[in-house]
Amino acid sequence: MTVMQSDIAITGGGPAGLAAALSLAENGLTVCVLEQAPESAWSSPSFDGREIALTHHSRALLEKNGAWSLLPEECISLLNEARIETGRNNEPLIFRADEDTHEPLGWLVSNYAIRKSLWTLANAHPAITLLPDSSVTTIRRNPDAAVVHFQNGDTPKKLSARLVIGADGRFSPTRRRAGIGAVIHDFHRTMMVCRMEHSEPHHNVALQWFDHGQTIAMLPVQGQASSLVLTLPTEKIRHLMNASVSDFDAEIMQRTGGRFGDMHLISSRHAYPMKTVFAHRFAAPRLALIGDAAVGMHPITAHGFNLGLRAQEILSEEIGKAFVRGEDIGSSLALRRFETRLRKITVPMFATTNSIATLYTRDDGPFRILRRAGLRLAGSVPPFKRAVTQMLTEQERNNGLHTAFGGLLPV
Ligand SMILES: Cc1cc2nc3c(=O)[nH]c(=O)nc-3n(C[C@H](O)[C@H](O)[C@H](O)COP(=O)(O)OP(=O)(O)OC[C@H]3O[C@@H](n4cnc5c(N)ncnc54)[C@H](O)[C@@H]3O)c2cc1C
Repeated sequence: MTVMQSDIAITGGGPAGLAAALSLAENGLTVCVLEQAPESAWSSPSFDGREIALTHHSRALLEKNGAWSLLPEECISLLNEARIETGRNNEPLIFRADEDTHEPLGWLVSNYAIRKSLWTLANAHPAITLLPDSSVTTIRRNPDAAVVHFQNGDTPKKLSARLVIGADGRFSPTRRRAGIGAVIHDFHRTMMVCRMEHSEPHHNVALQWFDHGQTIAMLPVQGQASSLVLTLPTEKIRHLMNASVSDFDAEIMQRTGGRFGDMHLISSRHAYPMKTVFAHRFAAPRLALIGDAAVGMHPITAHGFNLGLRAQEILSEEIGKAFVRGEDIGSSLALRRFETRLRKITVPMFATTNSIATLYTRDDGPFRILRRAGLRLAGSVPPFKRAVTQMLTEQERNNGLHTAFGGLLPV
């Protein structure tokens, strides 16, 4: 069997893996991306319900690698205001776009469009080889190289690389194969996402409503429509996924209290079980983890892909520096620097997000009181609100929080 060669092997061709391939290839490295999906699904991903809230920093990264300009205009929506409510008849906590600079809080972009634009760029890059239909079977990490054994369709193949990057999602087989454990938290809830047309305008306001027994987000998309994100116990979501369209419309209108007027389902429905993952380590000899394989966040704070982009940025900076200095790019020194920097950003984010998710998805009395008090306090402390809004709109900051939506942006 001939052995393919490249500087880097990436397992998983999702948005984090593809973005990493582009950044590393720009550093002069050759990259192979192994993706289990067939080429047709990989090159033209279908709608998956997710509208990804992107920070200014993430937009800048997507502009730098060229993906932003490939996004169809109809897949991008401005986010001018985020409104957070708890229970009924409460004063909402409101974050607005900067009235002086007219900068929006962020952008909502359809996940399938992000995936497609990144794939298109990676496919056209001379230093990147895309290997669809490729399922990894073994990874052997030796002192001087890593060898990835995989099935390409029915054909067994081998790829030798100086570094393997695991970007194969939150239940990452690469992470498992490397013997790296993870903290996994099951919220026993499922999040359903779909697009709803409605008769009342959304004014580019994202609403996050922590109601009794349900969490609803309505994210503005183009036209008179929003992306509905409904979190409920799994059994109730199963019922809604199978409901007829007319029953579904009626139930969603009732659940949203009629505040969006007439509502009508205009897309497929998608369900995502809420399990979060934090890998014990992000690096091991000749191996790095990025994206959901490293940190699979609860979507409630809209950090997941923003952190995935940040992880690949840090990794390519550290690998790029090692490469320019003529060092081994799979060396433990470069990987240690990557791990330290990423951990500094992700540890507080993950802990805060899980606390918010717990506080806002539990309905026991103390949790209800705490979240009402929390919103009232946040709303009455202008410096807090300003800090969060600045965090949303800033392009660059020197601390790790700059990629975040401050734990308050709804999905
Ligand atoms: C409902 C919802 C809303 C969200 N909203 C936001 C948001 O507003 N903002 C935000 O920043 N994030 C958001 N996220 C999170 C974001 O979608 C993820 O963080 C992001 O998609 C992770 O990208 P990834 O490339 O790491 O993983 P994935 O997208 O999971 O991609 C992993 C890839 O690896 C492939 N793969 C898996 N196993 C193998 C194997 N053995 N061999 C080869 N290939 C393999 C898979 O086919 C897949 O293509 C949301 C998530 C959900 C569920």
